Amino acid sequence: MKVACIDLEGVLVPELWPHISRHTGIAALNRTTREEPDYPKLMRARIEALRENNLRLSDVRAIVSMLQPYRDARRFLDVLARDRAVFIVSDCFEELAESFLPGLGYPRLMAHRLDTDADGFITQCRFAQRQGKQDVVNTLIRDGIDVLAVGDALNDIGMLKAATYGYLLRPSPTTVALAGDLPVADSLAEVLVRLQQDQLAHALI
Ligand SMILES: [Mg+2]
Repeated sequence: MKVACIDLEGVLVPELWPHISRHTGIAALNRTTREEPDYPKLMRARIEALRENNLRLSDVRAIVSMLQPYRDARRFLDVLARDRAVFIVSDCFEELAESFLPGLGYPRLMAHRLDTDADGFITQCRFAQRQGKQDVVNTLIRDGIDVLAVGDALNDIGMLKAATYGYLLRPSPTTVALAGDLPVADSLAEVLVRLQQDQLAHALI
């Protein structure tokens, strides 16, 4: 069996929070894990900023649903789906990410969840039971499954290293510096080309 574990934001769709920040004019929402590496802390600040500005989960969902997947994302997943089960492994939230699923051909989404109160305001994150994305890949690898992983940022490095085939897509210089010898691709098409080459080379070993 073969599986593809693909990051969402920055790989298949644009980053959500810069878009939410631009659309709402709330500068605080533009902070990312580059400025605040503690993700739960970053999310608490985002939730607080949304509450202060009277924005409910439904408002945020409406803003996110204006975004479209990248032009080549659906075709990329369709090619992978010819011989792999496709999982989206994301540190985003199901309530926000699900608007992309129709445009991506309904891959399986593995993300965190958001809790809301009776008025529809986000109260807290319900994080998936995993130490990181690499837990998902490690479980598959232990079961003897061939895993392709693609991601673009620091939170992807663990899963890319754990995978049979791991590729960084358009990473920032900081990510590259911490990525060791992980291969880097400039486009989803390049990922497919490199995967094919690496699979052939692997078969010859
Ligand atoms: Mg990403």
